[in-house]
Amino acid sequence: LSSRAAHGADTVVKVGPALVGGGHFCLMAGPCAVESQAQLLTIARSVRSAGAMVLRGGAFKPRTSPYDFSGLQKEGLALLSLARRETNLPVVSEIMSPNDLPLFEKVDLLQVGARNMQNYALLRALGRVKKPVLLKRGSGATLRELLLSAEYILSGGNENVILCERGIRTFSDGTRSTLDLSAVPLLHEMTHLPVVVDPSHAVGRASLVPPMALAAAACGADGLLIEVHNDPLHALCDGAQALLPEDFAALARQIAALREVT
Ligand code: PEP
Ligand code: MN
Repeated sequence: LSSRAAHGADTVVKVGPALVGGGHFCLMAGPCAVESQAQLLTIARSVRSAGAMVLRGGAFKPRTSPYDFSGLQKEGLALLSLARRETNLPVVSEIMSPNDLPLFEKVDLLQVGARNMQNYALLRALGRVKKPVLLKRGSGATLRELLLSAEYILSGGNENVILCERGIRTFSDGTRSTLDLSAVPLLHEMTHLPVVVDPSHAVGRASLVPPMALAAAACGADGLLIEVHNDPLHALCDGAQALLPEDFAALARQIAALREVT
């Protein structure tokens, strides 16, 4: 179902009023984790005025260490729903368990994180809902494995799947992961599904996010997922890779200019 041969035309996924794929480019941005009402609203308003079309924010955070901040959970989703109402931006947030689905009623795009790309019970449950899904590539997954994970959702009857390249683990240790940009044009050959890029988790360092975001846009990504924080030094999660709102706004202008010329 995911293959280009099965479905010639590009799939366009609707996330609230935003379109992703088939020539529609979607900028998604926001904090790694929802931390407070003030933090979320400040960031949401700034990314909206910079041109973001979808607000990101983690409420359930899959952390490598069980001792790290694991998100505001239900309260985080309530704050996202408030930000959604205040800004009119649709929201994307990570779901880690099918049991949490009822809590995600006000979330427009359900994110499956890299760690859960092969959580088949979760994928099957998302196949039964009508909401779009942002499926992140596992850090050790091949493109074939990513597409087979997408099949779990598609074969359940949910056609609204967006793929996300977010870096894979290699021997190169200068960055958090290695952004596999050739996956973007290659996936476009293999599948009709939209492909977005998350440079933030791939590089892990704010200074490297803008150049890789631009590179992703240049090689045909259908959108970007970018972490933004108003106070990165005090962020509860992934501060090192968060762009300041003004740096995100500058990047958004560069992306718009790049899209004009390509
Ligand atoms: C995230 O987007 O918040 C996240 C945890 O990303 P990943 O699953 O790609 O590590
Ligand atoms: Mn993060």
